[in-house]
Amino acid sequence: MKTIGMIGGMSWESTVSYYRILNQTIARELGQQHSAKCLLYSVDFEEIEQCQRTGDWDRSATILIEAAQRLEKGGADYILICTNTMHKVVDQVQQRVSIPILHIAEVTADELGKNKINKVGLLGTIYTMEQDFYKKVLIERNIEVTVPDRDDRIFINDVIYHQLCHGLIEKSSKERFLHIIGKLVDQGVQGIILGCTEIGMLVNQADTDIPLFDTTLIHAYRAAMKSIE
Ligand code: GLU
Repeated sequence: MKTIGMIGGMSWESTVSYYRILNQTIARELGQQHSAKCLLYSVDFEEIEQCQRTGDWDRSATILIEAAQRLEKGGADYILICTNTMHKVVDQVQQRVSIPILHIAEVTADELGKNKINKVGLLGTIYTMEQDFYKKVLIERNIEVTVPDRDDRIFINDVIYHQLCHGLIEKSSKERFLHIIGKLVDQGVQGIILGCTEIGMLVNQADTDIPLFDTTLIHAYRAAMKSIE
């Protein structure tokens, strides 16, 4: 079995989900007492969030590069950056380690492809929804991406940072997320990417008929399967 290196703590709430999914997947696939071989480097999210807010992406890349190099030295065979947003600096990190990074948007695009979905709604942080670094991975694969309107984007971003990253699940937030999803469906999307690793704590497939692509589930599942290929 290969060893998975996780750069987590962004936020730690979603890293808990990653750890659970990795182990559940290996247990389901291999049975007995099998569990995932993994290393976790968990950052101080305040430092990362400050870099995001001030636009100092180079500083955040430096933090993630150090984490990735420690994981490589520790014996990881490949790396997961356990957040969508921080894939903004994935190329910088990849240049500084010799083990591969499993890109969250690429594995999500694979999943959309399998489901023949080429028009998708994207929920995530303001950076993920408004900047190019994430959407371009999908667009390059001929997937059309629709994001919510500006007010809804601000609302989603606030819920992520002020509620979900603190483990707070509010019923009113869930209702508004489902309403936003409904508006995207009215615009003709065939599926919704939960493009932030905490959103799955708030909404899941049982809440709606439109196919949801939960990036935490997809990313962690693919990483686990890769470890036993
Ligand atoms: N976990 C979130 C994501 O998937 C947001 C936290 C962060 O900014 O890294 O984008």
